[in-house]
Amino acid sequence: MAASRRVTRAVNAVLDLAPREGEVSLTRLVQAVSEDRGRPIELKMADLPPGVCGQWRQYNDRDVFLIQKGLPAWDRTLAHELGHLVLGHEGTPVVQAVRETVELASSELIGYMLNQRTGCMGPAGEDAEQEAEDFAALLLYRLGRLPSDRASIVQVRLGEAFG
Ligand SMILES: [Zn+2]
Repeated sequence: MAASRRVTRAVNAVLDLAPREGEVSLTRLVQAVSEDRGRPIELKMADLPPGVCGQWRQYNDRDVFLIQKGLPAWDRTLAHELGHLVLGHEGTPVVQAVRETVELASSELIGYMLNQRTGCMGPAGEDAEQEAEDFAALLLYRLGRLPSDRASIVQVRLGEAFG
């Protein structure tokens, strides 16, 4: 795994925010990042266009991670989107939520925004996608190596993650 120092630092910073006691799941980490930033992060399942796994939307008062419904490796996608956020990449600014339907219906726009390699929809460039992928891989790897009573990424059920 050849993650850059920048990515490694970001993963360390996120893991530092982990609760000192109890289980450390990916969704708990997302919550911890949210509290650290003083800005809510919402997780939502969504019907995204085919081939799109996740999307990070920035609203005025909160961030929303949309994860494709029924995705088998949703934790990877969630970690990827979290990577974009903590690495300071640009999300998709949402001027008006009501435009979402229009956005999703426009295949031209989707073609423009969709990064074919990662299946991530966002305006960020190739480098940002690679960074987010490296971040996701390293974060999940490190989570998986925590003592078993603390790492619970496997045990978290979708219903608990997405209220
Ligand atoms: Zn991405």
